[in-house]
Amino acid sequence: MLLQNLDEPVPVTLPLNRSYNIQFADLDELPAAMRSAGIRAGKVLVVTDSNVATHYRDRLDALFIKDGWDALVLVLPPGETTKSPKHLHAIYDAALTWNIDRRTPIVAFGGGVIGDLAGFAAATLLRGLPVVQVPTSLIAQVDSAIGGKTGINHAEGKNLIGAFHQPELVLVDTKLLYTLDRRQWTSGLAEAVKHALIDDEPYFAWIEKEWNRILARDPDVVPDMVYRAVKVKARIVGEDELELGHRALLNFGHTFGHALEHATGYGTLTHGEAVALGMRAASFLSRRLHAKVDQHRIDAVLGAFPTPALPEGLSAYDLTFAMRSDKKAQAGHLRFVLLRKVGCAYVEDDVTPADLEAAWDHVLGLR
Ligand code: NAD
Repeated sequence: MLLQNLDEPVPVTLPLNRSYNIQFADLDELPAAMRSAGIRAGKVLVVTDSNVATHYRDRLDALFIKDGWDALVLVLPPGETTKSPKHLHAIYDAALTWNIDRRTPIVAFGGGVIGDLAGFAAATLLRGLPVVQVPTSLIAQVDSAIGGKTGINHAEGKNLIGAFHQPELVLVDTKLLYTLDRRQWTSGLAEAVKHALIDDEPYFAWIEKEWNRILARDPDVVPDMVYRAVKVKARIVGEDELELGHRALLNFGHTFGHALEHATGYGTLTHGEAVALGMRAASFLSRRLHAKVDQHRIDAVLGAFPTPALPEGLSAYDLTFAMRSDKKAQAGHLRFVLLRKVGCAYVEDDVTPADLEAAWDHVLGLR
């Protein structure tokens, strides 16, 4: 049974004309939703990857043709390496040789990689094209498609080149999540659990209750789970669009997670798996500093994530080193998003080397 009214779009409320809606709808409603968001029917450049195209390309072509649009679908290779200057230029080339104008929308139809890349192309082409995010992975639906962070990677690190560019519309069809493989599904769950832990205790309590059905992708609970996660993200982005303040709370588990990704070699852990382990480290640290943090509750949920074993030789020293070599961390002192209790996160500047080592030992002890 659905507890949320999914017909009610989730607004992202921002200054000037940058507000937009996150609409829960069937993919077939995309052209109509775009027109309702103020985009005129005409040329539309759709960017996707080959995994997503395998499942949805024909349907996408048909629905734009039926609604009188002239759609060009650009299919890129899947995976993190696609967030590169090479594939950014592939989008520029397709768009500019097709004679787009400043009102031609780009539809980012895919996971976080496509959303970040196509969003950045839209931010920079002709000094800014409208972009519509149609997230197809769980990470993208609950997190990356919302909030306007776009960008590509550089040899020096992830997401180092980018821009804030808010979409005109985000269309979420949770039925698209059923073609995701199991590993991508559980990876995405980490970001949904993160939203609950940092900001919404009743949502976390609901996740605890429904956890087995959520893990099993039960269609009776998936739309509610995504909707509630989206509400958390939309509200935080609306309060702090440019991450000058508490939007940083969305990085809960990420300082640890990025270090794990880096130290194990990118691709060993998915982003979500690294974040799930990172949240275990951050929760352990939170419990060390705040008696009200119920570690057992958090571990009962996070402990159910199937995570690949960490390499035997990996030490707390290696992980701390990886943390300090993060480009974004190098700019200043290491800061950690921690919990005062479930549903209440804050930024902690004062973590001692002993606290940090203990947190890493806790995660390494899970091997
Ligand atoms: P992804 O785009 O690589 O998708 C994961 C895999 O799932 C890919 O192989 C993809 O082809 C496949 N896939 C996607 N949707 C599918 C579907 N419906 N059916 C079958 N296969 C499908 O990565 P992701 O996990 O979605 O996102 C990770 C990326 O998001 C990272 O680059 C990360 O930096 C970025 N991110 C950005 C933000 C932001 O605020 N902009 C936030 C979180 C993460």
